[in-house]
Amino acid sequence: MPDKIHTKYVLDETEMPRAWYNILPDLPHPLPAPLHPGTHQPIAPEDMLPIFPMALIEQEMSSERYIEIPGPVREVLTQWRPSPLFRARRLEKALDTPARIYYKYEGVSPVGSHKPNTAVAQVYYNKEAGIKKISTETGAGQWGSSLAMAGAFFGVEIEVFMVKVSYEQKPFRRSMMQTFGATVHASPTNLTDAGRGALAKDPDNPGSLGLAISEAVEVAVKSGGTIKYSLGSVLNHVLLHQTVVGEEALLQMAKADDYPDIVIGCAGGGSNMAGLIIPFVREARKKALNTRFLAAEPTACPSMTRGVYSYDFGDTVGMTPLMKMYTLGHDFMPPGIHAGGLRYHGMAPIMSLLHEEGIVEAQSYHQNSIFEAAVLFAKQEGIICAPESAHAIRAVIDEALEAKAAGEERVILFNLSGHGHFDMLSYDKYFEGALQDYDYPIEAVQDAQTRLPTIDEAALAPGD
Ligand SMILES: *Cc1c(COP(=O)(O)O)cnc(C)c1O
Repeated sequence: MPDKIHTKYVLDETEMPRAWYNILPDLPHPLPAPLHPGTHQPIAPEDMLPIFPMALIEQEMSSERYIEIPGPVREVLTQWRPSPLFRARRLEKALDTPARIYYKYEGVSPVGSHKPNTAVAQVYYNKEAGIKKISTETGAGQWGSSLAMAGAFFGVEIEVFMVKVSYEQKPFRRSMMQTFGATVHASPTNLTDAGRGALAKDPDNPGSLGLAISEAVEVAVKSGGTIKYSLGSVLNHVLLHQTVVGEEALLQMAKADDYPDIVIGCAGGGSNMAGLIIPFVREARKKALNTRFLAAEPTACPSMTRGVYSYDFGDTVGMTPLMKMYTLGHDFMPPGIHAGGLRYHGMAPIMSLLHEEGIVEAQSYHQNSIFEAAVLFAKQEGIICAPESAHAIRAVIDEALEAKAAGEERVILFNLSGHGHFDMLSYDKYFEGALQDYDYPIEAVQDAQTRLPTIDEAALAPGD
C-alpha cells in the first residue's frame, strides 16, 4: 500500500517510450493468418499494397518485439504525451470502497482521445511512401478528427466517410474535421458502389462502421494506387501504435508504488484497451502474475460476449481480408446507440485471441447504465467522458463495489479513452430519459451469422 496518496502521476516527455511493443511473437499461439477475400488463402504482404503502405504492412506481420517510434512521430506525440495517470480519490470515497482506482487519461490529446496515437504514425508512414491522400471511415468522429489533424500536420489530404447516425448526432465532430482541412461525407453515400447498394436496399440506412469502411476501402482500391486507406482500430499495427499508453502506465504505476489486480477498457475495435493492457499482459506472462483484463462493450453490439470466433470480413460488403476474430457477422447493423465508436461488428484479432485464450474477459452494458456511471464519475472527477469510455467506467464502478462487498483492497486501472465534450447531446438525451436500452438483438445477429464465410481452417497450411 503506497504511504502517500497522490492525485496524479506524470512523466517527463523524455520518459515517453521510444519503441512500440509488438505482442505478436509473445502470443500464446500464433495469430491465425488473414485470408484473401476471394481465394480464402493466406494473403501475401503485396496483396495489401493497394490499400496500405509497405511500412505498415510490415508492422502488421512483424515478428520484432520492439519497433522504434520514428523521430517525427515522437515529436508530434510529445505535444500531449506522456498522458497523465490519475488516482480517482474522490470516486473511491464516493463509492466508499477499499479498491484503489487509477485511470490513464487519453482525453488530453488535441482531439480528445487515444486515436491520434496511431493516426500520427499512419499518416507519417504514408507520407514517407509518397502518398498525398488517404480515405477513411469514422463512427463518432473521433477517428476522423484524429486522422484529419495528423493529415494537416504532415500535409496529406484526408477524405472521411462518417457513419450517418453520428454525422447527425455529432455535427461538431464534422466541423472539427473540416477545420483541419478534411472532406467529410455522411455514409452511406452515393459516391461508391457499397454506399449505393446499401441505399438501394434501405434509403434510411443509419450507416455502420462496417459499411463506412467498405466505402473508404473502395475509394482507395479504385484509385489505382494514388489514395491509400487508413483504419483507426482492429488491425495489428493500430494496436501496436497504442502500446505507448500501457508502457507509460507501467512506469506511472511504479511511481505510485502500486500494481493493478485488474485492467479495464471499453472495446469497440479493441485498440484503446489493447494499448493499455498489452504491456501488462507481457508483464503478467513474464512474471506469472494473475492480473485480470476486462473488456466493456455495449449490450446492443456485444462482439466478444455474444459473437463467434470465426473468420469474417472487416467491412460490410466483403472487400477487406478475412480475419479470425470475434464477430456478430459482417453485415450486422447495430442499433443507433450513442457510443458510436463501439458500433463495430468485429473485434481486433489480437484481442480476440486473448479472449479466446481466457486472458481477456468481457462484459456488456446498457446505455442508461453507462451514462449513469459517467455522470457519477463526472461529479467526482470533473471529467465528462466519451460515451465509449463510460462503458469502462461502469465496469470499474461495478468492480469497486464488488471489492467493497468482499472487503477486498482491489487495485483497478482503466483507460479513460476520451472526453465527451462533443457528445453533450447524448448526455441531454440521457437526462431527458430518452435513451433506449436496446436488448441484445439476437435475431439480427443470428441472421447476420448465416452469412459468415465458410473457411476450411484445417486445409490452411499449418503455421500460417
Ligand atoms: C474510437 C473510440 C473507442 C473505441 O475504439 P477502440 O478501438 O475499441 O479503442 C473508445 N473510446 C473512444 C474515446 C473512442 O474515440
